[in-house]
Amino acid sequence: MQDFWFRLSIPVILSMLFGLLLWAIFSATAGLMFVLMVLLVLMFRNAQHLFKLNEWLKSPTLENLPEGSGNWDEVFSQLYKMVKKHIKTKQDLAAELLHIQQATAALPEGVAILNDVNRIEWFNLQAEQHFDLNREHDVMQDITYLVRQPEFIEYMQASNFSDPLMMRPARHDETVLSIKLIPYAGNKRLLISRDITQFERIEAMRRDFVANVSHELRTPLTVVNGFVENLQDMPDLSSSSARRALQLMAEQTQRMENLVADLLTLSRLENDQSTMSEEVVDIATLLNEVLHDGKLLSGEKHTLRLEIASSAKLLGNREDLYSAFANLVGNAIRYTPEDGVILLRWYERAGQPVFAVQDTGIGIAAQHIPRLTERFYRVDRSRSRETGGTGLGLAIVKHVAMRHQAKLEVLSEDGKGSTFSLVFPSKRLKQ
Ligand code: ADP
Repeated sequence: MQDFWFRLSIPVILSMLFGLLLWAIFSATAGLMFVLMVLLVLMFRNAQHLFKLNEWLKSPTLENLPEGSGNWDEVFSQLYKMVKKHIKTKQDLAAELLHIQQATAALPEGVAILNDVNRIEWFNLQAEQHFDLNREHDVMQDITYLVRQPEFIEYMQASNFSDPLMMRPARHDETVLSIKLIPYAGNKRLLISRDITQFERIEAMRRDFVANVSHELRTPLTVVNGFVENLQDMPDLSSSSARRALQLMAEQTQRMENLVADLLTLSRLENDQSTMSEEVVDIATLLNEVLHDGKLLSGEKHTLRLEIASSAKLLGNREDLYSAFANLVGNAIRYTPEDGVILLRWYERAGQPVFAVQDTGIGIAAQHIPRLTERFYRVDRSRSRETGGTGLGLAIVKHVAMRHQAKLEVLSEDGKGSTFSLVFPSKRLKQ
C-alpha cells in the first residue's frame, strides 16, 4: 500500500521540484508549464492503461491480459492472479458437476428434477428411457403433458407422496415402474422412477403359487375330513384311543381347511387388485349377519351387542366387507375370556363411516400393534392356535381396507381390551 502511494507521488514531487527550479532560474510561467506538461503525460499514460483494461474486460482471458508499467503493472499482476484463481475454481466446480452427473447417470433409478409447476429442469438417462423423454425438446416442459396416464397425473397433484405409485409406461406396458416424488429445497421436486418389472413378475409368481397350492390342497383335505367325520359317527367304533385319534385328526384337518380358505381369500384379494366389483351395501343387514355368526362362534360365552348409529350405506364389495368384519368380530371373541362383552358399532366420525369392534379381552401390548397385520404374526402363538386362528385374519382385513381406501385403527391396552376400527373415506358413504 505504502509502495503504491510512494510510486504514484514520486514523479509528481520530482516534477514540482524541477518546476520550482525552472521558476527560480527562468520564470514562473516556465516552471508551471513544465509541471503541467509532466501532469499531462502522467494523465495520458493512465488513460492508456485504463483503455487497455477496458478492452481486456470485454473478453477477459489469461492470454490477452495487457502488460502495464509502474503501478499498473501491479494492478495487472493482481488481476492475473485473480483470474487464474477464478478459472481454477470454475474448473474444479465443472469437474465436480461432471462427477455428480456421471454418478446420477450410473444410478439404476431414473431421476428428474422438477420445478414448482412440474416443469422438467434436468433428467438422467434412465428417466429418459422410463418416460420416453427427449433431451432436446422436453427440458422445461410440464411432465404431466408428456406422461399422461391418469394415475400419474392424480399422483402428481396429490400432496401425500409417502407411498410410491406403481405404473406401466404408455409405450412399454410390459414394464412396471415404481414412482416416487420427493419435495426438496422448498419448491423443487425430485421424481425417482424404478423399474420393478422383474420384482413384480416374481411377486405375481409367488401369488399364483400360493393360490395354486391352496387349490390343490383343498380337495384332498375335504375328502380326508369327510372320511374322518364318517368314521367318528360310526357307532361300532369302540376303542376310545381310536376315537381320540380321530378327534385330533378332525381338529387338524379343520385347521388346515381354515388355513387354505384364508390363503385363498388373501390371494384373491391380492390378485384381482383392479377389478373389485362394487355395490351399495346395506351395512345394517350385513352386520346383523355378522352378529348372528359371531354369536354362533361364541356359543353364548360372551355378550355380543350391535349398535347402529348411522343409517348410511357403504359403496364397496359385500363379500370382502363381510370377510373383514367377521374376522374382526371373530378375533374379539377368540381373544376375550368368557363373560366378556363385545360391541359392534357402525357410526359416522367427522363425515367418515366407521365400523368398530370393541372387546373387553386380553388386549395387546403397544409394541405388537404395528406388526399385527403381517401374515402369521401372532402375539401369543399358542392362544392363536388353540382358538383356531390361522394368523392371516388381520392380513385379510388390511387388504380389504386397502381396496376400499379405508384405514385400520387399533386401540388396545394390555389386559383391558381392544378396539379395532375400519375408517372408510367419506366418498364411499351412501345415504
Ligand atoms: P390369528 O388367526 O392368530 O388371530 P390375526 O391376523 O387375526 O391372526 O391376528 C394377529 C394377532 O393379533 C393375533 O394372533 C392376536 O395375537 C392379535 N389380536 C388380534 N385381534 C385381537 C384382539 N381383539 N384382542 C387381542 N389380540 C388380538
